[in-house]
Amino acid sequence: MSKGKTETVLINPVTQYPGPPFDTPKQSAPGTVHKLHPPADHGETSYKGHGRLAGRRALVTGGDSGIGRAAAIAFAREGAHVVINYLPEEEADAREVIKLVEAEGVAAKGIPGDLKDEAFCRSLVKQAAEVMGGLDILANVAGKQTHQESIADLTTEQFDATYKTNVYALFWLCKAALEIMPAGSTIVNTASIQSYSPSDILLDYASTKAAIVAFTKSLAKQVAEKGIRVNAVAPGPFWTALQPSGGQPIEKIRDFGAQVPLKRPGQPVECAPLYVLLASSESSYVTGETYGVTGGNPLP
Ligand code: NAD
Ligand code: MG
Repeated sequence: MSKGKTETVLINPVTQYPGPPFDTPKQSAPGTVHKLHPPADHGETSYKGHGRLAGRRALVTGGDSGIGRAAAIAFAREGAHVVINYLPEEEADAREVIKLVEAEGVAAKGIPGDLKDEAFCRSLVKQAAEVMGGLDILANVAGKQTHQESIADLTTEQFDATYKTNVYALFWLCKAALEIMPAGSTIVNTASIQSYSPSDILLDYASTKAAIVAFTKSLAKQVAEKGIRVNAVAPGPFWTALQPSGGQPIEKIRDFGAQVPLKRPGQPVECAPLYVLLASSESSYVTGETYGVTGGNPLP
């Protein structure tokens, strides 16, 4: 072993986390991490930081649970100040994240509110910048997914809510953030394997996720000369409240993750290193890209 270094413990990714069958209960949207059985790993005890975002100022939407919770914890462990957004009914999940962020000795605040509202999106960015003395990371993680068997069952209300949450909010938040972000800032969006391989029962959701990939590429080109980078993470199946709270039929959750080569769903903490990389200046030559974290069904 080299001097002063601890040896790496090899971990088999197939058996590292639970695989199907699962029997987690159905939840009502937006769901909570506390009803997931088995519980998810958001990095609460497992994510180790290395100062890669020291002093950075991050706004994370959907920061109460799932992938957003994992990104918020990782950002704080890497030394960033973190403001999270979530829906008012998710206050209990959010409080836990705020406590974990505070424990890192950085600024931490939760700002609840509905991203379907343009005025709220603008005020969220403004408030986050006030709390942290500026904003240089925007991680757009919030998302809405509701399965419908047929286009005949997909209402205009649902279509509208999915597009408002997943696409319009992204537009409003990026627009407001770009007014105040300095050169060197980064935006990390959240696409999906559904952007490329849409399921029949996720017509509205999958098409919003495809839009996010094009939005990311276009905005990246537009703001490159300002020194701002825009990228996206595209997860495959992840063990979060999104799926049993209407994202998939509950019968499908039993085998959730079985369809990928690693034979299990990802845990939110397994997304965190990508959000950190794309947020940090370590990825200084990467912009307009979408990075997959799919368990082995690669992005085309
Ligand atoms: P999650 O339910 O834990 O997180 C989604 C969050 O979105 C919620 O916690 C909620 O705070 C937020 N949200 C939803 N509607 C909102 C609104 N109107 N206003 C404000 N916030 C709102 O689930 P997750 O799986 O961690 O989802 C995070 C992101 O990952 C989403 O964009 C989702 O599409 C994406 N994703 C998830 C999977 C998966 O399998 N779980 C796969 C691919 C992509
Ligand atoms: Mg939540």
